[in-house]
Amino acid sequence: MAEPTPLDGLHEQIDDVAAKLGLDGSTVDQLKQPDRYLEFSLSVEMDDGSTEVIDAYRTQFDDARGPYKGGIRYHPDVNPDETTALAGWMTYKTAVADVPFGGGKGGIAIDPAEYSDTELQRITEAYTEQLAPVIGEDTDVPAPDMNTGPQEMEWIRETYEAIRGTEAPAVVTGKAVDNDGSKGRSEATGRSVAITTDAMFEYLDHDLDEATVAVQGFGEVGHVAASLLDDRGADVVAVSDSSTGLYDEDGLDIDAVTAWNNQHGALTGYGGADEISNETLLEEDVDVLVPAAIGDVIDAENAGDIEADIIVEGANGPITYEGEQALDEDIVVVPDILANAGGVTVSYFEWEQNRADDYWTKETVNNRLEDKIRDGFDDMIDTYERQGLDSFRDAAYVTAVEKVIDAGEY
Ligand code: GLU
Repeated sequence: MAEPTPLDGLHEQIDDVAAKLGLDGSTVDQLKQPDRYLEFSLSVEMDDGSTEVIDAYRTQFDDARGPYKGGIRYHPDVNPDETTALAGWMTYKTAVADVPFGGGKGGIAIDPAEYSDTELQRITEAYTEQLAPVIGEDTDVPAPDMNTGPQEMEWIRETYEAIRGTEAPAVVTGKAVDNDGSKGRSEATGRSVAITTDAMFEYLDHDLDEATVAVQGFGEVGHVAASLLDDRGADVVAVSDSSTGLYDEDGLDIDAVTAWNNQHGALTGYGGADEISNETLLEEDVDVLVPAAIGDVIDAENAGDIEADIIVEGANGPITYEGEQALDEDIVVVPDILANAGGVTVSYFEWEQNRADDYWTKETVNNRLEDKIRDGFDDMIDTYERQGLDSFRDAAYVTAVEKVIDAGEY
């Protein structure tokens, strides 16, 4: 039998919620099906004069609560199934975070490391030419995701504005701060990981000061989560990137690891800790595990080896549906749709600032982010207790699905 895909996992999750809420079949079908799924072939000229044909996608999953919203990733594994699952997750993420957006996601199936900057610019422009008729400040608002950032957002905005012949700063979020972006946007996803970890420790009456933490991924999400959890008093004993993992049972010096990473572009070669693999990192006996790299890293095969007490999902979909069923039932999971919702929350703040042409201080952004994520956390806990649910993921989905249904015609 074929391996279950991320979209299969989303469908299973919706079925679970539907059973808990007693939803009828047609509502369930509507919740599972994207509104629109677009597939493009981009013909792009390379620096050597040749033309490459590249696959690209955008799924507009649901806009009952507001414009479609979600990132665009550049990765060789990008495919229709994953893009649609990610767009579905965005729908439920924006609902839990209570920002007035729906869910979307896009991707281009390339390894950006294999292209020059000028090639990446032409690829992004070709993609935007395809997208221009269906995106917009009030219809679909892309943002960064894996391997994309402020530069790609600027290319998209410029191409879109040229085609539409109008200024539209809010057509994308995740822009550079000096280019109509929001302060605090780049750290926002890692920050919500730290906020939700803190909130879960408070809820469980545990002390974050004495907690050990392992973080998989040292990019924008993992790195920020590690350093904020370190600031909040936890001992970050393990971190990793695709080159290696680092372990120190007494707690890593996160500032020194960060300095090394900034200078060398990778963790490998840092001498101040033991080197471990990414698989070993996941199986460390820590209080908190933060998978913040890629999806599907905990599945039915390795779930039984996970020793952490609490898993806080920094990445989108790091635990497969089957993986979660196979985890020890005492393990608490703080689900991605809340834990990493900081990114889209500050995207909403950016969109608001663009619309009002009024820009906030970093302190204002961070305080409002903390309030929003804590409110989302409290809503999740409220549903968990009120409905007597078994997992916080079910609680987050029940909270989200109720909001999507309330807003739409289901
Ligand atoms: N790509 C991010 C996510 O998965 C952010 C999306 C956004 O800001 O729209 O949540």
